[in-house]
Amino acid sequence: MSTPFPTGTILGYPRIGRRRELKRAIESFWRGEIDAAELESRAADLRRATRERLADLGLGRTDSSIPESFSYYDQVLDAAVTVGAVPAADLDGYFAFARGTAAQAPLEMTKWFDSNYHYLVPEIGPETEFRLASDRIVAEFEEARADGFLTRPVIVGPVTLLALAKPSAGAPEGFRPLARLAELLPVYAQLLERLAVSGAAWVQLDEPALVSESLGDTTAELRAAAGTAYAHLGRLEKRPQIFVAAPYASLDATLATLAGTPVEAIGLDLVRGAIPTELHDCTREALTTKTLIGGVIDGHNVWRGDLAAAFAKLGLLRELSPHVAVSTSTSLLHVPHDTGDEPQLDERLKSWLAFADQKVEQVATLATGLERGAVAIDGALAQASAALDDRLTAPGVRVPAVRERLAALRPSDFSRAPYAERVAAQDAALDLPALPTTTIGSFPQTGDIRRARAALAKGELDAAAYDEAMRNEIRHVVELQEDLGLDVLVHGEPERNDMVQYFAEGLDGFAVTVNGWVQSYGTRCTRPSILWGDVSRPAPLTVEWSRFAQSLTSKPMKGMLTGPVTILAWSFVRDDQPLGDTANQVALALRDEIADLEQAGIRIIQVDEPALRELLPLKRAAQPAYLDWSVGSFRLATGGAHPATQVHTHLCYSEFGVVIDAIRALDADVTSIEAARSRMEVVHDLERSGFDHGVGPGVYDIHSPRVPSVAELTELLRRAAAAVPERQLWVNPDCGLKTRGYDETVTSLRHMVQATRAVRQGA
Ligand code: GLN
Ligand code: ZN
Repeated sequence: MSTPFPTGTILGYPRIGRRRELKRAIESFWRGEIDAAELESRAADLRRATRERLADLGLGRTDSSIPESFSYYDQVLDAAVTVGAVPAADLDGYFAFARGTAAQAPLEMTKWFDSNYHYLVPEIGPETEFRLASDRIVAEFEEARADGFLTRPVIVGPVTLLALAKPSAGAPEGFRPLARLAELLPVYAQLLERLAVSGAAWVQLDEPALVSESLGDTTAELRAAAGTAYAHLGRLEKRPQIFVAAPYASLDATLATLAGTPVEAIGLDLVRGAIPTELHDCTREALTTKTLIGGVIDGHNVWRGDLAAAFAKLGLLRELSPHVAVSTSTSLLHVPHDTGDEPQLDERLKSWLAFADQKVEQVATLATGLERGAVAIDGALAQASAALDDRLTAPGVRVPAVRERLAALRPSDFSRAPYAERVAAQDAALDLPALPTTTIGSFPQTGDIRRARAALAKGELDAAAYDEAMRNEIRHVVELQEDLGLDVLVHGEPERNDMVQYFAEGLDGFAVTVNGWVQSYGTRCTRPSILWGDVSRPAPLTVEWSRFAQSLTSKPMKGMLTGPVTILAWSFVRDDQPLGDTANQVALALRDEIADLEQAGIRIIQVDEPALRELLPLKRAAQPAYLDWSVGSFRLATGGAHPATQVHTHLCYSEFGVVIDAIRALDADVTSIEAARSRMEVVHDLERSGFDHGVGPGVYDIHSPRVPSVAELTELLRRAAAAVPERQLWVNPDCGLKTRGYDETVTSLRHMVQATRAVRQGA
């Protein structure tokens, strides 16, 4: 018996809770304050509240429109556990893979497509035994049923699970997890059968790997795997109807492959991707029998957007199939819960926004339109359009002075003096030893620092007292670095709550939220700022802190800024103009800050771009244009720096591939990168690429409390020195130290300085 797909749905909903209830519950469980049963019961309460909320917002209770997208930690880990690829017997076992234990290293974590969400990377080899090892997905569906809901189970699909996995330690050279597809499919089949027995009418299999051109497997391999997988699962006799969702970009030719399988519904991201036009007749024919789910409401951003245009896209989709439904483009996991939780936000700005709950309402509106025709939703479409018009003309959205400055930019604004000239000027100005030692910026954010910030926010501490507390912290950090014998010092960034929000708070064009938490990984959440208007700098942001820190030492003190691309990547950014224009506005604000830092006597300025890799488009064809504007904005930010000012940048990763050219193009005098986890492999990439600027491959991993020995650091440094000419090489940890404790930090840095001395002396 087949039931139609619901006319409106979402691909997934935030799972951390409106007030981060899940985070609190899980962390209490980790601390041993509550037991597993209590955690399970709180999680069940949260799932119940979510279903009720979604029904109130307009999704049907019994038509499969509410997705079961809960996770205790991560949906990729969940899928891996479900199919037995990761053996977790209970919640402790599950969390052990996420966080590690004394006996077990955690799974690696990496970015989920082009978002700031991180998933855990399962390890799969020829030896991995797949079996239906967990019935959590079935149990949650049944839990909903018992409450009178007929929901839609969601699981990461087999192709994406394998494509995101990495080969297990014992796998032979060249092995790829995708090779195990045939053995994995029977387990998915068994799961589908179990769901059918429980009464599920539809199941959602998330297959974002099918839209990405940036994975280890090629598009053709992934497409073939999708054909195999869905032909197999489609043939099953006992199964729910299958909805394959492909968020984050367009499916391109893989749409034809899916159309050729027996799946009943296909989800298209129509925010990032377009409706395919060049389709073979047989694909067109096949698509008329499928339900096409148009992801027209942006799941990745917070704007209310152009609802009429979204509805029009659904109209176009109807030309391909008479069965069309509306959805979000991605899971709503990437946006906060509710604009209603932000009473302090400007009402006018709020009227332009849609967080998760407002997006669900938008879906419900468009579903009504699909069912009853455009006239039924005229009013709602007109209201959304009015908000959009209001946004276009509201003060602050387009500031003439900012626009004139941008329009007047010339190519020379994006370039500094030739590198050789800069080197000479900097050598004279800085007088640094060979292999200069430094850190990436932050020092441990102690409880005292956080408490002072919380007290300031509550009004228990006045601004003067807070500033004095921060100055004391800076004094301490500077003294410590002099003591350790580091060559280039930092002020430690105690005054920054977050490396993006700190800048957002000081710039015009941004707003910050109070409850706008978004899951970054596991129980870690971030609160992205909202970049809504033209960006400018009403007053210097960091200058007084840097001036103060420099006054404490005769060694060079690095000025520390967050780069334009990272500020964009970790905020919700206006969608009414090209990202490159917005990036250049931020760049100009930073350029002014750099000029002021120079005036204040700062000779080295670091502009961090840890997110440069993150925004790289999933489609190859879009990558050159991205690299062009992203690199351009960095060059615009730094292009006004005096030749004698040494510009540094920091990137948090070392998988180069496409980005090595970008790093070269940034033209920073010194680039620090992550390298310790790959035991300095990256220096060989650098050597091969002929990179001739300064480089600081991180000598130790700051993500763990482990203290590296002098011998180990010496060995790594020697390795780096063998590949990179000495005049280029810098010595630093992998990343900032803010999440570390002081004990391990001090010892690690002491070892780093000792190892550097040993290598300098050729010992
Ligand atoms: N300067 C920043 C810090 O040290 C850089 C952080 C990052 O790269 N993510 O904290
Ligand atoms: Zn970093």
